[in-house]
Amino acid sequence: MTRSKTIRAATVICLCLLSASTGHAYPKSAPWSELERYQETITRKEFEHLLTRFYNPSKVIYRYLDINDQRVIIYNDRGNSKIDFTLRFAPNEASKKPASFTYKTVSDLNALRNPPNKPLQGVKIALDPGHIGGKWASMEERQISWASYPLIREGDANLIVSKKVKPRLEELGATVMLTHEISEPLTPTRPEDYMAEARAEGRSGGALRRQAEMYFYRREEIYQRGQLLKNKFRPDFNLSIHFNATELSGGGTITHDNRHAFFINAAFGPDEVDREMWRYFLFSKLLERSIPMEAAMGDSLTEEILKVAPLRANAYAWTKYTCPINDNPYNNGRNLAMTREFPGPTVLCELFYMNNPWTAARMTAGDYAGTKYIEGAGGTYRSIYEDYADAVVNAVRRLFTQWTVEGYPKPPPTVVTKSWEAGPDALTTVAASASARHAATHSTNEVAHLLPVKKR
Ligand SMILES: [Zn+2]
Repeated sequence: MTRSKTIRAATVICLCLLSASTGHAYPKSAPWSELERYQETITRKEFEHLLTRFYNPSKVIYRYLDINDQRVIIYNDRGNSKIDFTLRFAPNEASKKPASFTYKTVSDLNALRNPPNKPLQGVKIALDPGHIGGKWASMEERQISWASYPLIREGDANLIVSKKVKPRLEELGATVMLTHEISEPLTPTRPEDYMAEARAEGRSGGALRRQAEMYFYRREEIYQRGQLLKNKFRPDFNLSIHFNATELSGGGTITHDNRHAFFINAAFGPDEVDREMWRYFLFSKLLERSIPMEAAMGDSLTEEILKVAPLRANAYAWTKYTCPINDNPYNNGRNLAMTREFPGPTVLCELFYMNNPWTAARMTAGDYAGTKYIEGAGGTYRSIYEDYADAVVNAVRRLFTQWTVEGYPKPPPTVVTKSWEAGPDALTTVAASASARHAATHSTNEVAHLLPVKKR
């Protein structure tokens, strides 16, 4: 993978997300006909704005396109010899046909007119506890051990948070599905099933085994979760729950840095558009037009997590593989497996660095009720899982209340929502929350600047 190229800072988003080429049940060719529902639902102007501002700022995708005011032909190859799909544009805004989206748009949500105590009634939320965890955590390269602390397995931690969030969203009226409930894979396949494919790619020895494992726990597992959501649930919103770590965490390396980030599907890299499945997902995400809702969710999550853990932003800015979504530095555009392959609006949460001593001390203290003095974190805290879950629940409640309960103020426009409303020519000016900007620029990330419930 293009790990060193893609990751600008010393930090790395969970690598399970960067799935690779074709394989077992992962399709060899894309279901292009599923895009038929979007015929004449978008103008060329809006299409190109979304394409060049968000989904492929490098514009390399144009080598696969033949575009005019009437339609865009999407080719299978750079030589433009085989057509995958032709999308007809609406001639103008007024003549756009209504698209049938798989999720509830903001106007669908407005029409729910929910009571204030049940803002999520009629809303389907999918929670994806990142990774598999348990006995698979070592293979996933998602467990860390250092000093005298017990092992931290990210997949298990993500499950703790997700299971705390689920009943609370249900209490607010939501229908909630977890992509998995235990530390076991959804896919029935195992690494052995991918050995032949990895061997055919010319790999051998340890590299062969690692590639086969990656096809299992990364590419296939994430694809299966997406298929489960698409075929069995049809979520109105997906949240993928992760704890982050820096790149060297696998070797037990500690960092004193500690940050948060949210990821939204965007910024397909110049080479990433060469894969048919990824081109398909690029256009299916673009045509889904979920990015304003994703940006609003990222903003809401930012507001809420900073109340309980005011850490700086892990902001990737403009690179070949990342882009800002709006001027909230915590919101990053990136082509990741969950954000790419889950149906409907999706935000991936990457909170804390597990290989930071303060985070690790709190994580290894486990989940508990009330507050507790945590030696290694130098203060008295709620459980870190409780802080995480609380932030997610509050963010979802606040945002959906604005969308579904009549008379509640609408969320402040993000850059995306504003440009959306103003048309494709509008440029980026609107604000992230003041607290997000402040935390992004002023926090020192030292333990003393964090917010324990009270010092002992
Ligand atoms: Zn992760």
